[in-house]
Amino acid sequence: MLWFLFDNNKMLIKLNNNQVFIPNQEDIKGLAIQVERGILIGGLENFPCYAAEFSQAPEALPNDFAYMSLRKLFFKTDEEVFGIAGRAYQIIHWVRTHQYCGKCSSLMENKAGELARKCPSCGITSYPRISPAVIVAVVKDEQLLMASNINFPTSFYSVLAGFVEPGETLEACVQREIKEEVGIEVKNITYFGSQPWPFPDSLMIGFTAEYAGGEIAVDNTELATADWFARTQLPGNIPDNKTIAGRLIEWFLQGGTHGLYSNNKR
Ligand SMILES: [Zn+2]
Repeated sequence: MLWFLFDNNKMLIKLNNNQVFIPNQEDIKGLAIQVERGILIGGLENFPCYAAEFSQAPEALPNDFAYMSLRKLFFKTDEEVFGIAGRAYQIIHWVRTHQYCGKCSSLMENKAGELARKCPSCGITSYPRISPAVIVAVVKDEQLLMASNINFPTSFYSVLAGFVEPGETLEACVQREIKEEVGIEVKNITYFGSQPWPFPDSLMIGFTAEYAGGEIAVDNTELATADWFARTQLPGNIPDNKTIAGRLIEWFLQGGTHGLYSNNKR
């Protein structure tokens, strides 16, 4: 049994030679930790995985234990372990923020047989929230559209992204976001891949697209600057290739230009 234990957005981990491990039942017993809301969330190498919050986080930990933020964990663990940690965090966050019914304020209960919370008085059922967002690599004449967000450190550039709105298809969202943020029209929108992004509850859905018209006109409410970049002239500060943003940029660097190389590597 492995425990994905959270104190707000920090997870308890075990360290061995600077490598991150997930605490098991023995570890938890040894630390004499009080947990609440333990939920079975999956398995890892045949060990069942439970997510829980501390009812009271221990003040002092032995040297080989630590709390690690989910963002740091993203870079310190492999995709599978982080996937479970992200799922654990999202479910814990959802339970924590859905103690009471949003319609009649009664105390909600876990629904038997599915991952849901149900209101015993008015019957409303609540499911864990996932906020889908598109992220897009737009290519024009072997150049990639990249932008620097007003919240990014200066000189950090990435591909464009935005949240899906109710009633919108993913393709329509790609077109709207690119148009709103930089005034560009796109075509040949092609699915690339996806990545859960549990900060706190996004799912990034990646696309590639081809420039179809317009001149870059940056909407400064979100972006500081945007431009087309050739492969040899990419900005120095770009997303890590563990992220889907980084993988889209990698796709471009490996020759993805839409229509020109149809068998590009993903
Ligand atoms: Zn209710």
